[in-house]
Amino acid sequence: MTNIILLGPPGAGKGTQARHLVETRGMTQLSTGDMLRDAQSSGTEMGKKVAAIMAEGKLVTDQIVIGLIREKLLVGSEGGFIFDGFPRTLPQADALQKLLLEMELKLDAVVEMQVDDEALVARVTGRSTCGGCGEVYHDVTKPWPADGACSNCGSTEVKRRADDNEESLKTRLMEYYKKTSPLIGYYYAKGTLQRIDGLASIDDVQKSIAWILGK
Ligand code: ADP
Ligand code: ADP
Ligand code: ZN
Repeated sequence: MTNIILLGPPGAGKGTQARHLVETRGMTQLSTGDMLRDAQSSGTEMGKKVAAIMAEGKLVTDQIVIGLIREKLLVGSEGGFIFDGFPRTLPQADALQKLLLEMELKLDAVVEMQVDDEALVARVTGRSTCGGCGEVYHDVTKPWPADGACSNCGSTEVKRRADDNEESLKTRLMEYYKKTSPLIGYYYAKGTLQRIDGLASIDDVQKSIAWILGK
């Protein structure tokens, strides 16, 4: 069983790679962004509370996301967990370490997906996802099939995120540099950090991650 963190700024390709690992290795994707969006669409109190913060591109409180992760870890996973978009702050990283210890799990690798800031605007503003299955598409690099039906599930529902605009991305990047990028040093010092070129093609990024995971 392997547990990894995918670390990188908004648009680095974390979700895309996490989905591939779920399909090919039976791992469990834990995306706090997806969990928070689910909470919003199901209209829970917590969802309502975080909607404005997310639209603006600010981070929601540590307490909320740690609670979400805790619930999912308790369920367990045979193939191991992929932490996608969590942790995003040092207190979240400390909380994760405690939770893993409690559950007798270990962290095998922290994969830092390195990308240029300039590439992120195009990545994020071109992003869409399938309403049926969550497959991630891009207007230029991974367009929807010509018939408009998702290649994975056949749905024609195209979803775009409210926060995938240039204005919100600026705030999200600032949050990343101020609060999340210190985690790179944190995991380097712990000896678990692995860096990969996130600007390579989706296939090549997949290969780099497979290499880190050992075959
Ligand atoms: P991206 O795919 O662009 O990296 P996510 O889907 O991971 O974005 O997150 C979307 C938003 O959800 C963030 O801008 C933030 O408001 C909130 N969020 C997600 N994960 C966390 C987290 N671990 N801590 C705080 N806020 C989070
Ligand atoms: P994150 O979860 O880190 O925010 P996503 O996986 O949602 O990032 O990817 C952001 C956008 O960039 C999506 O539209 C996706 O299709 C596209 N994308 C992801 N990886 C690559 C890549 N290696 N090359 C080109 N485009 C990519
Ligand atoms: Zn689909």
